[in-house]
Amino acid sequence: MTGTTARFVHQVSRPDGFPMREDFAFVEEPVPAPAPGEALVENLYLSVDPYMRELMDGGWDLHTPLEGRSVGRVAVSRAPGLEEGALVFHRRGWRTHALVTPGDVRVLPSHRGVPAHTYLGLLGGTGLTAYVALTRTVRLQPGESVFISAAAGGVGSAAGQLARLMGAGRVIGSAGSPAKVRRLTEEWGFDAAFDYHDGPVGDLLGKAAPDGIDVYLDNVGGDHLEGAIQGLREFGRIAWIGAIAQYHNSAQPPAAPRNLYDIVEKSLRLEGVLVRNHRDAQGELEEFLVPHLRSGRVADVQTMSHGFDSVVDAFLGMLGGANTGKMLVRVAAE
Ligand code: NAP
Repeated sequence: MTGTTARFVHQVSRPDGFPMREDFAFVEEPVPAPAPGEALVENLYLSVDPYMRELMDGGWDLHTPLEGRSVGRVAVSRAPGLEEGALVFHRRGWRTHALVTPGDVRVLPSHRGVPAHTYLGLLGGTGLTAYVALTRTVRLQPGESVFISAAAGGVGSAAGQLARLMGAGRVIGSAGSPAKVRRLTEEWGFDAAFDYHDGPVGDLLGKAAPDGIDVYLDNVGGDHLEGAIQGLREFGRIAWIGAIAQYHNSAQPPAAPRNLYDIVEKSLRLEGVLVRNHRDAQGELEEFLVPHLRSGRVADVQTMSHGFDSVVDAFLGMLGGANTGKMLVRVAAE
């Protein structure tokens, strides 16, 4: 049975540049009782995501419980169809307990050997983003060379492993530390990797892929996008997934890429990816990935932070590169 105190995180100020702990506050209330048609969910895992940094500039109201992706267990139900004990995904995160209606949640399937938190990572929006970027946006073909930025993060590590399974030729990743670069090649099947602090991305990519690349999955934007445009062969494709290099300065136009017109000169295709437009691929993702997860061919890479108290630090840490794989917070024991 659930405890008596529910805890929430509020945003209390708008950041100027990189956010700080002081931009958040922890708030407590008695655990709410569900009304007819509602269920009380006890959150087990919370996801902290880069898009939340953008929400901090105005998308989130101040002094209000924040929202984010979470997996939890139904503790008390007055909602037909939501059984007590069911494992559910919902978007009312940044809190220990949430009141939900059946329309707010997805009851999670039970795949033997797949832990609950995987539904916030490889089998959640993170894995789905990587999967649809490869299968629907760039339509990766066997033998093609792929470059992935923020490659040691959640989307990046998923994308590299998926690209390998889909028959990619050379898979190249960039990341922010020598330790991450090593893991890319030694553990997750990348053929080459570099630390983007070591020089201009275009030069580093040129060394890692001397024959050029066919496909770029962009998680970073700015100088990474510029370097990838430089390295792409004629008729190459870019799936633009995110621009984490720009999220702290969204009011200013980015200094890069300065070579956008090469998209014309090389007949490149650049297309944005928004995972919410591809929810219909969830079943396909599970069918494809679950056997590979069970066999251990795909690593469910995550950095797990422990305790609700750690959620703000986990979020700030992820923005600063403290994570390898998906950054998650374990709020309560399963
Ligand atoms: P993540 O990659 O697990 O974590 C963010 C990583 O970004 C950090 O670990 C850090 O790694 C890197 N980073 C931070 N500042 C950077 C900078 N200035 N230059 C280069 N790298 C930097 O996060 P994620 O959840 O998987 O998301 C990755 C990207 O995908 C983000 O841009 C996110 O917004 C986007 N996304 C988009 C969708 C969509 O639907 N379009 C869905 C999910 C995610 P390093 O140590 O390597 O710097």
